[in-house]
Amino acid sequence: MAAKILSGRQIADAIKAEIAGEVRELRTAKNIIPALTAVRVGDDAASAVYVANKVSTCEELGIISEHRHLPTQTSELQLLDIVNELNRAPDIDGILVQLPLPKHIDEARILDAIDPNKDVDGFHPINVGRLSQGRQSLVPCTPAGVIQILKRSGVEIAGKNAAVIGRSNIVGKPMAALLLQENATVTICHSRTHELSSITSKADIIVAAIGRPGFVTADHIREGAVVIDVGINSVSDPTRLSEFFEGDELEKRLTAIEKRGATLVGDVCHKDAMNKAGVFTPVPGGVGLLTIAMLMRNTVDAAKARRDI
Ligand code: NAD
Repeated sequence: MAAKILSGRQIADAIKAEIAGEVRELRTAKNIIPALTAVRVGDDAASAVYVANKVSTCEELGIISEHRHLPTQTSELQLLDIVNELNRAPDIDGILVQLPLPKHIDEARILDAIDPNKDVDGFHPINVGRLSQGRQSLVPCTPAGVIQILKRSGVEIAGKNAAVIGRSNIVGKPMAALLLQENATVTICHSRTHELSSITSKADIIVAAIGRPGFVTADHIREGAVVIDVGINSVSDPTRLSEFFEGDELEKRLTAIEKRGATLVGDVCHKDAMNKAGVFTPVPGGVGLLTIAMLMRNTVDAAKARRDI
């Protein structure tokens, strides 16, 4: 039987509607309007799109947003000054420094300078520490979105074997911490893991965050498993598509490459997941849509926490 597809859109829309309601309530009952500042340095094309999407989602939900776009040659000290100014600004609840930063800027130094209470990306070591101790914290948005997909789709996590493939600070590690907090038994797999498929094929839940198109194949997946695909890879070579897709989906993707020059492919082989998994999040249309919704969640949570609400 074909895997059931979990729609990221439906879940993201539900979360955004809840947040919009909360923002309205905060404004009318307490005269508070949550505010987010996104700082972008340089002209990375993908970053420009991501920040534009974040700003427009703020507008959609009634959150104040500001986009500070700085030139590539901005120095580390200048950026630190801006972060410090935003830390002090009483009306700013969330600060987001879009990654990657230009090579001459030390990312860790910038992220460490953000006030942990305004750190809506959840990357500050204080928030990472709080998460690892299972305490209230601002949690990285993509793994937080995965937990929402699982919970709101009725997937049981407690007691299940979960395999997270990838150990980045942005996805893999916080994902593992969150699954542990939900009482899963978690294995973190990475580029040095031996016999990956022998581990993942025993997992009830697989989260793939690797950055290689179609990497997770039938061998890695237990029959009926829950497969969450975090990967976002742009594929422009039409001859590769039959590795990942079949039937109507293959036709759709070939047309996408013809029209737009590329199509987005996850880290999981779509056709293998459809044939073997029990439930599966597609790319696009899965986890990616939750990331911005969870950023909005963090901004409103930060606004409330700063005022002890
Ligand atoms: P990363 O490059 O920082 O980390 C990749 C991880 O994959 C590493 O920890 C590495 O150990 C592991 N890996 C590499 N080769 C492997 C192998 N052969 N076997 C097992 N593990 C291997 O990437 P990231 O930032 O964590 O992102 C991962 C993917 O998720 C990318 O495709 C990225 O585009 C996507 N992503 C999506 C969102 C979203 O909003 N949906 C957000 C962030 C990242």
